[in-house]
Amino acid sequence: MNKPLKQHLIDPEICIRCYTCEMTCPVEAITHDDNNVVVDAEKCDFCMDCIPVCPTGSIDEWRVVETPYSLDEQFGWQELPAQAEIGSSSGVEALDDAMEALLAEAHKGAGGKSKAPATATKPTVNLYNLGKPATAKVTGNFRLTSGESGSDVRHIILDFGAQPMPVLEGQSIGIIPPGTDAEGKPHLPRLYSVSSPRDGERPNFNNLSLTVKREVQGLCSNYVCDLKIGDEVKVTGPFGATFLMPEDSAARMLMICTGTGSAPFRAFTMRRQRAQAGGSGDMIMFFGARTPDSLPYFGPLNKVPERLLKKHLVFSRIPGVDKEYVQDRMMVEQEAVANLLADPQTHIYICGLRGMEQGVELAFKNIAESTGLAWEATRDAMRDEGRYHVETY
Ligand code: NAP
Repeated sequence: MNKPLKQHLIDPEICIRCYTCEMTCPVEAITHDDNNVVVDAEKCDFCMDCIPVCPTGSIDEWRVVETPYSLDEQFGWQELPAQAEIGSSSGVEALDDAMEALLAEAHKGAGGKSKAPATATKPTVNLYNLGKPATAKVTGNFRLTSGESGSDVRHIILDFGAQPMPVLEGQSIGIIPPGTDAEGKPHLPRLYSVSSPRDGERPNFNNLSLTVKREVQGLCSNYVCDLKIGDEVKVTGPFGATFLMPEDSAARMLMICTGTGSAPFRAFTMRRQRAQAGGSGDMIMFFGARTPDSLPYFGPLNKVPERLLKKHLVFSRIPGVDKEYVQDRMMVEQEAVANLLADPQTHIYICGLRGMEQGVELAFKNIAESTGLAWEATRDAMRDEGRYHVETY
């Protein structure tokens, strides 16, 4: 099978055959016959010079393909072919290179190639990209942390109106900051985990939420944290095909996070809360932050019933109190963790600071080995079964 790639195409139903794109293209990738204006996939280098000069927008069409459409095929078209099923393995492999590399890096801590849970819903990926982003409208921007905490974390709500944006819990989207870089090129999208469930931040609305921390020099985080209601945002994605939740009400979930790494776990929890109203979620969370007022969603999280989500909120910088990290609390709760490790229904998710991986790994090793389980073998088997997931930055 060929490696899937993006192909630039022109919509023959909209094109007015003015040939401006053909005259503009610096690599002579655009040509025409009596019927259509077409793009040669072998020559197009995605420079985008042709996009702004097109008077109709017919130039801005893209398809993910395994074999590019030939010039002859394109000359024969009366209309564009539909995109082959998105979310198929070819769609997954065709993630934007930069996004794919970022996610692969974020999943490195799993110790091998990540796999989705066997029962996970098939994700849609790469529906929108830099050349053809979605436009979302901001419908909410709420500060989640107190001013005194020194940490500015925002709950951002984006509405996609009539544009499809099918995201699953655990997936990310890209936000394109406006403007250009030092070389005059558009900024690349920055990835953010979605913190709402698949049926929307508000059930059955085509919206989603993000949990974004303002970073001092952060080009995109400052842009996002300063967004006002009604602002329009360019969005790529969805991305991510492995850090997904099992669609199995008997699956148990052990979630370990720091700071904004809690974003996907808010989505997981809301999914179970909505899908299993009144039932037991069988989810347990270890969540580390500096102080309660810098822990995103501290108030709402405390209201989630313990039967759904057993919460261990740990703090590292409460004055006069010993520093506690998530791995410290795991050791305190080692009986419960050991019980989960021994259960083939358990799925483990780790999300947040890269620095916590080592401590969490050591805690797992100590706990597993105290019950006679070889940790590395257990972890590798879980990963191969799609039950062990790491996403750290
Ligand atoms: P943070 O406030 O810097 O840290 C959260 C907590 O983790 C603090 O209590 C901190 O303690 C503690 N911590 C520091 N080093 C640790 C270690 N080695 N082991 C265990 N705990 C440790 O967190 P943040 O700024 O929100 O950062 C979260 C990270 O998650 C970011 O790197 C972000 O990129 C990533 N992430 C975000 C998303 C998202 O959707 N937004 C998704 C995935 C990952 P002390 O500071 O007191 O040492």
